[in-house]
Amino acid sequence: MNKLLEAVIENNRRWTKDGKVATYIPELGKADQDAAGVCIITLDGEEYNGGDYKTKFTIQSISKIITLMLALLENGRDRVFSKVGVEPTADAFNSIINLETKNPQRPLNPMINAGAIATVSLIEGETSEVIFNRILNFTRKITGNPDININEDVYQSEKKTGDRNRALAYFMRSTGVIEQDAEEVLDVYFKQCSIEATCRDIARIGAMLSNDGVLPWSGERVVPRNIARIVKTIMVTCGLYDASGQFAVEVGVPAKSGVGGGIVAAIPGRMGIGVYGPALDARGNSIAGIRILEELSRELDLNIF
Ligand code: GLN
Repeated sequence: MNKLLEAVIENNRRWTKDGKVATYIPELGKADQDAAGVCIITLDGEEYNGGDYKTKFTIQSISKIITLMLALLENGRDRVFSKVGVEPTADAFNSIINLETKNPQRPLNPMINAGAIATVSLIEGETSEVIFNRILNFTRKITGNPDININEDVYQSEKKTGDRNRALAYFMRSTGVIEQDAEEVLDVYFKQCSIEATCRDIARIGAMLSNDGVLPWSGERVVPRNIARIVKTIMVTCGLYDASGQFAVEVGVPAKSGVGGGIVAAIPGRMGIGVYGPALDARGNSIAGIRILEELSRELDLNIF
């Protein structure tokens, strides 16, 4: 399997040339454009790697599945989905247009920025620090990695330049979606996006979801089966934003991308996959990451449909 993964990386590394690293968060622009890595964690605990699997990157929007799980755990599905919908979007992840024209009281889904900011506002805690620490601890648990932390430079960079996200948050505060101080909610959101991880860390999150909420390496249940199921379903329909349909046709697995270049995939009953390639396509998805998952889907017959 390690040989297969090395071959898949070498077959697809050339795609990195077609993409661009994100620069709208200036600190992300420092990533190595040619990097490509993969890690697979199977449900019997085996781990396989290829390429730049040791490189650290910020998880960015992959954090949206983490906060969705926590929000569902604390609030239950009725409350969460009264604040955020579950319908896919044909617009960019940071689009503001649907908020006003579709439903000002309910952003479309938790995988776009507006929906993720609404989701994180539901997590309990006295201060933004307390709330973020709960997210961080949950992330450490579901990755089995107690050293997970934020990348302080990326966090500062996001905070300084995150005006689009501020616009979304203040709009949602004006319509009652967000009930707390918008800056406090945004601070948690910027931090969750700046959590730093490797392909292995995100593959482990995928493995937990593919195992219906149980950590394969310890047998500990971290979320009920129905939450794992909801999250995987939303990953299929919304995980790659306005490219989710194409990805479902080509790869056919629940997945979530982030503009740091990571994509996590959860193959039900089989494995979690983490891929990395910071060169992105126009939608903000890792261009090599998608190609790697396409090839793996063919080679290992992963398509769930
Ligand atoms: N932090 C990024 C943002 O808010 C996350 C977006 C993403 O990964 N698509 O713009």
